[in-house]
Amino acid sequence: MGGELRHGHRRGSRKGAPQPGILVTHEVTMAQPAPCAHLQAIAEVKPPKSQACEACVEIGGTWVHLRTCQQCGVTFCCDSSPNRHASRHAKATGHPVIASAEPGERWLYCYPDDQVVQY
Ligand SMILES: [Zn+2]
Ligand SMILES: [Zn+2]
Ligand SMILES: [Zn+2]
Repeated sequence: MGGELRHGHRRGSRKGAPQPGILVTHEVTMAQPAPCAHLQAIAEVKPPKSQACEACVEIGGTWVHLRTCQQCGVTFCCDSSPNRHASRHAKATGHPVIASAEPGERWLYCYPDDQVVQY
């Protein structure tokens, strides 16, 4: 898995004579972009085992918010926290999706695709 690059199609502006009679209408679709494959693969959201960053507990650190890795289920601190363990974990392991471990928050975030979905 992985390594697939999405190539956007560039529409170059054509120079030359405009073609009268051809009306190009751009239909604006309000559809939401589909969740990425990582987010679609989440069938059941893993809840936090405890309301604590496992890495901060070990080093006596503090955190602001908590995130739970949806690959291995560990709970780490968010990017507003001094140690940003969730981001570091995602980078180190390649685990793409975290869920907010904050009570009342119901969203998932995919690091590689920078995408958030509510659930
Ligand atoms: Zn993704
Ligand atoms: Zn932490
Ligand atoms: Zn993980």
